[in-house]
Amino acid sequence: MGKIISVINQKGGVGKTTTAVNLAASLSALEKKVLLIDMDPQGNATSMSSIKEENFNTIYDMMADPKIQAVYQTKMPFLKVIPCNADLTSAEIELLDAENREFVLKETLDRLKDKFDFIIIDSPPALNILSVNNMVASDGIIIPIQCEYFALEGLSRIIQTMKSIKNINPDIEIYGILLTMYDKRVKLTYEVENDVREHFGDLVFQTVIPRNVKLSESPSFGMPIILYDVSSIGAKKYLELAEEFLSKTE
Ligand code: ATP
Ligand code: MG
Repeated sequence: MGKIISVINQKGGVGKTTTAVNLAASLSALEKKVLLIDMDPQGNATSMSSIKEENFNTIYDMMADPKIQAVYQTKMPFLKVIPCNADLTSAEIELLDAENREFVLKETLDRLKDKFDFIIIDSPPALNILSVNNMVASDGIIIPIQCEYFALEGLSRIIQTMKSIKNINPDIEIYGILLTMYDKRVKLTYEVENDVREHFGDLVFQTVIPRNVKLSESPSFGMPIILYDVSSIGAKKYLELAEEFLSKTE
């Protein structure tokens, strides 16, 4: 059975999409069968997956109609993707009236789960009904954070939300907290890192993702970092993260 992982943080721009796409690509490079799902109406993970089809179906279509297929092959043999577009914003509103509104994604993924080793979901920068669906469908979450003031406050909000999700998905766990855009030259980086490691111990990945210009360039080429520049430090670190993740979960 595949493990389902949501990459989640209500704060914008902390590296959720970069992490979802590059962890998915790195796991697939290690020959794990991976499905990446874009659950953010901004569609950034979709753009980074450069699917060939122009009029693709989306996760929104699949959630609305079980007969619709929206699983697409990427350039990496072991990586498939379910894209989205701005239509997913409508789902946010429509779901509010649905009877089983927290379970719609879970029901969709139950039909796919046994075809993959890992399903990785990119989340919007909000704790809304879409992120709730992501967490209800997931076995665990990965929380990327930037080493800045209020990072800890943000973290405790997500963890609080996750605890309330346990009422309907009791087994959900934290797979790890990931320090992103890590910059050794900034003193605050060390302070925040120390605080986070002190509070959360083993829940924090040993691997940290440094600020790397190649990581910020790769989206405009519609590629994960290992296709864009495999020798970059960003590519190396996301591969390292995939290995650490596997050693923690397998
Ligand atoms: P949103 O909340 O808007 O969905 P996000 O949390 O998904 O944002 P990303 O889109 O992954 O964040 O990253 C924000 C910006 O920072 C992007 O332009 C991305 O390319 C860049 N970025 C992410 N990680 C790194 C990194 N390690 N080094 C340099 N740039 C990075
Ligand atoms: Mg994003």
